[in-house]
Amino acid sequence: MTEAAAPRVLALGELLVEVMRKELDLPLDRPGELVGPFPSGAPAIFASAIARLGAPAGIIGVVGADDFGDCVVSRLRSDGVDTTHVRVVADHPTGVAFVAYSGDGRRHFVYNLATSAASLLSPGDVLPDYVAAAAFVHVAGSTLAVSRSSRESCYKAAATCKAAGGRVSFDPNVRPELLGGEPVDSVVGPLLELCSVLLPSGPEASMLTGQADEADACRSLVERGIPIVALKRGRDGSTVFTADECIDVPSLAVTEVDPTGAGDCYDAGFVVGLLQGWDPERAARFANVVGALSVTRQGPMEGVPYVAEVMALM
Ligand code: ATP
Ligand code: MG
Repeated sequence: MTEAAAPRVLALGELLVEVMRKELDLPLDRPGELVGPFPSGAPAIFASAIARLGAPAGIIGVVGADDFGDCVVSRLRSDGVDTTHVRVVADHPTGVAFVAYSGDGRRHFVYNLATSAASLLSPGDVLPDYVAAAAFVHVAGSTLAVSRSSRESCYKAAATCKAAGGRVSFDPNVRPELLGGEPVDSVVGPLLELCSVLLPSGPEASMLTGQADEADACRSLVERGIPIVALKRGRDGSTVFTADECIDVPSLAVTEVDPTGAGDCYDAGFVVGLLQGWDPERAARFANVVGALSVTRQGPMEGVPYVAEVMALM
């Protein structure tokens, strides 16, 4: 695949770098060793995975004219992602996330996003012809929380792709506390209406429906009209819900080094599977392997696998 190929799968949103603690249980409120920058951002991880899985990928976003921007853009370019629609601005820095891990597996973040270049993404960056040519537009819930204009860009991209006959995949990884008091329902509503594939974790499915039971929550999302809901369950794999069935699909046993990015890699695997014409169960099996391999390396994008590695384990 080359950059010249028309992207069949488009992502949009934050391209950022991540800097993380080397040691567990060392919070970010005191000096200590850090490692990074690693290229990151949910849409960037997704786009990298799409390209490594062999489908033409593109990304729309904004970075600063700085080394962090170069770090993430050059990584995407080397994977074969079309970055011609990434805008570089001189007056805002590339977004950064600092991450500390606790021994119990929890992650603590300090973000510099709201005042970063990523916050400048606006509907003007979403060129209708470019988006209308895509088979899929993927939206990450995190992008809805970066800024108002970032959110509007997602709505425009999703609506444009759908109107042109394409499909929308939506990972509702939205943190309510980052929405500035706005109700989650109203922010994610337009994407729930437009998406063909919803890719939640259990707590996200519950958050979207108010139903504590994750499977009930996914069933009610299907009843609402979403054709496929793929529930991500970490090391336990995933469960696909459609109007006709609910199928548990186990993952691969791996040694987890860094869970960051597994969800985005799974999303990419699932979309590539659907593009192959596979049924949701086979797409989920492929996506599980993509997610499992992604957690075996430190850094959000360092474990993104290539299609041959995934097929060998199917
Ligand atoms: P994040 O938001 O941290 O990126 P997520 O909560 O959206 O992740 P997970 O359920 O953690 O998503 O991971 C996505 C998929 O990756 C899982 O459904 C599973 O298939 C695979 N996966 C993740 N962690 C593991 C693991 N430790 N072992 C095997 N497979 C895993
Ligand atoms: Mg997630």
